[in-house]
Amino acid sequence: MVIAAHPDDADFGPAATAAKWIDAGSVGWLVCCTSGDQGGEDPDADPLALAATREAEQRRAAGVVGYAGVTFLHQPDGALANELALREMLVREIRTFRPDAVLTHDPEVLFYAGGGVNHADHRAAGMAAVDAVYPAARNPMAFSSLARAGLAAHAVRRIYLFWPNVATCWVDVTATIERRIEALACHASQVREPRLLAERMRSWAAEEGMPIGAAAGDVFRLIVIDDEPAAGRVTEEPAADAPVP
Ligand SMILES: [Zn+2]
Repeated sequence: MVIAAHPDDADFGPAATAAKWIDAGSVGWLVCCTSGDQGGEDPDADPLALAATREAEQRRAAGVVGYAGVTFLHQPDGALANELALREMLVREIRTFRPDAVLTHDPEVLFYAGGGVNHADHRAAGMAAVDAVYPAARNPMAFSSLARAGLAAHAVRRIYLFWPNVATCWVDVTATIERRIEALACHASQVREPRLLAERMRSWAAEEGMPIGAAAGDVFRLIVIDDEPAAGRVTEEPAADAPVP
């Protein structure tokens, strides 16, 4: 399960890894906390029309990556906060889809090591996702109305934080980097120069693949919560190509 703040984050983020794992037999689901209704430069634009456009773009991109589905939580773009209401929505998604792994924004990055400020929505989405994974989703007494409604507690085993300042695992995405670029091209309202963007993505992926000798890589900060799958669990996310050093 990928949990992202805005409709294009998952495709700028871990789309190539998601595509690789989906190709290998995993089932993927994407959760977008907002619908990107502030993602334009025209102050007179209709935010609802923009949100509809961006949801449609994200659904097309999700089809390219191969997710089984997308949930939009319809939270306000630019005003996302790690609050109980958002955490409850995320716990509902986690207990419904029951992922082994959650991929989300690294909430501890305020300033990127390479320059720039990490968007407040990215930090809020990442923090809410981490808090939803642990302890709320696995605690049957947390948001107990969910358990009473049939959504039993669920233990996510690993969190992969994307756009980290300090990477601890690498995934070889040589086979799926072009899918990520194709997915990014679906976000037509956000991408002005698709050819330049594709070149930039290939060059970033080449840099990120270097530590493991891959032509293209994704980097994550990996948080292992449970080493072993629970009894009766039949699925498991594929291991990263280079684990925590
Ligand atoms: Zn974003």
